[in-house]
Parts: sequence; C-alpha cells; structure tokens
Amino acid sequence: MLRIGLVMLQGARHVHMSALQRAADECSIEISLHELRMASDLVEADPHALVLPGGESTTMRLTGNHETSGLLPAVFDWIRNDPSRPVLGTCAGAILLSDPQDGGAPLIPASIDRNAYGSQSDSFQDEVYSEMLGREFPGVFIRAPRFDSIDDSAQVAATHEGEVVGIRHGNRLALTFHPELSTDTGFHRWLIEATVEVSG
Ligand code: GLN
Repeated sequence: MLRIGLVMLQGARHVHMSALQRAADECSIEISLHELRMASDLVEADPHALVLPGGESTTMRLTGNHETSGLLPAVFDWIRNDPSRPVLGTCAGAILLSDPQDGGAPLIPASIDRNAYGSQSDSFQDEVYSEMLGREFPGVFIRAPRFDSIDDSAQVAATHEGEVVGIRHGNRLALTFHPELSTDTGFHRWLIEATVEVSG
C-alpha cells in the first residue's frame, strides 16, 4: 500500500485527496492518504510521497513554522533527505518548493514571483499544454505565481501561451496552477506511478 502525505496547513487540500483517490482507482493501485499537520504526523505516517497543496503561502509558512506544528521544516528535510521521493507542489506549494526561505537550497531549481498575474480578479482558467503528459490540460490559475527564472536542469512540465507554468526536476513537480480542480487526473497519476517506481 502506497502512503501519500498531504501537507494540511491551509488551502486546497481535500480536493487533492479526492483527485489522488480517483487517480489511484484509475490505475488500480491501493493508496492510503495521510493528513499532515505537525512534524510528528510526518514521522507517524512515514509517507512514500507528498503533496504540497495551494493556498496562501504566507499563512502556510506561519502555521507550518510555528512551534506547535513544525511541519514545514520537517517536510523540507524529508524532501531534501532523498531526492528520489515523489513530491507534487501546486501553486502556493510550488512557491514553497522554489523558495523555502529556510536558508537552504530551493527544492526545485527555479525562482518564483508570487501573485504575478495580479489580484484575485485576474485569476483565470485556460488550457495549458503539458509537455510532460503530452497533451492539453485544463489550467486553473488562482492568484497564481510565475516562474521568473528556471535552471537548465529542470524539465518543462507545462506551458501556457508559451510561458512555463510547470517544472519537473527528477521526481519533484511544481505547477503554478491547480490540477486538483480539474477532472483530469494526469498529474496525480504521475505522482502515484512515480511512487510505485520508487517504492512499489
Ligand atoms: N497567491 C498565493 C500565494 O502567494 C498562491 C495562490 C494559490 O495557491 N492558489 O501563496
């Protein structure tokens, strides 16, 4: 049974859980989902893969770095300790991966600009092209960030009107949009399949 942990600090968490369950059912793979709120939850769950959902990264940093939680530093350590561990970060999750603000190296080799499309009213929905999945994908952008520089070692996972909106580095995937808010489970299936490959 694959164990997938969700960073439950704030934001779009439960929709990721249903997307993961749908993806797992489609691939006939058994998964268990683990809600992580404190560092001790991570130890207890001992997950094979992690999802860092979207939300408000400033709030996530506050709650996740607070002494009552300690989840964020534990998650960053978990990711850094083994680069093969599959991780999906969406929107604010991508911000945390690109800019952990913990004095350590970024967890995905890119720099990112928060709220770079403008305010809430500039949120939008449009098709993106996923180079990684080899097809179009419904892109839901909610106060989304934009990558402003991307290291050559990263692979383009998705583009919107020619602009990179998703990058992959090994088994780490950072998307500036919300794949969990579409019916397409492609990126969640990738996470599950990558986890099977590493830990199955
Ligand atoms: N604007 C949010 C931030 O800066 C990200 C938005 C999202 O995750 N949908 O953290």
